[in-house]
Amino acid sequence: MDCIFCKIVSGEIPSVKVYEDDIVLAFLDINPLNDGHLLIIPKAHAATIHDVAEADFLAVMSATHKLAAAVKKALNPEGLNLLQLNGKVAGQMVPHLHVHIVPRWSGDGLTVASWELVAGDLEKIKSVAGKIQAEIV
Ligand SMILES: [Zn+2]
Repeated sequence: MDCIFCKIVSGEIPSVKVYEDDIVLAFLDINPLNDGHLLIIPKAHAATIHDVAEADFLAVMSATHKLAAAVKKALNPEGLNLLQLNGKVAGQMVPHLHVHIVPRWSGDGLTVASWELVAGDLEKIKSVAGKIQAEIV
């Protein structure tokens, strides 16, 4: 499969690994937004959250929790962002599910999103809630 993250899992493409278990691999982003920018992925290919097995997703999130603690101890960031993007429209660049840990410091110049707060229509919000609730299994 022509997937850069699958090639990292197989070792075909080298990476700077920080954590690995049976299900998960974590490595440094080679285009880091900040020092300690990590990517956490399932070893089994899955493009997005809609494709990944729940157990693999939970393993990725569990490793993310463990790694966030390690980043905090190692680099002492003032905060950190977790980012998990699904689909090109959402900004996903590599179609193999991944979580970013981006350590944050004051004045680092990064912006995650600059959403303007605009009050929504409460009836529409309730209607959308109903549609989502109806699809929860
Ligand atoms: Zn892949």
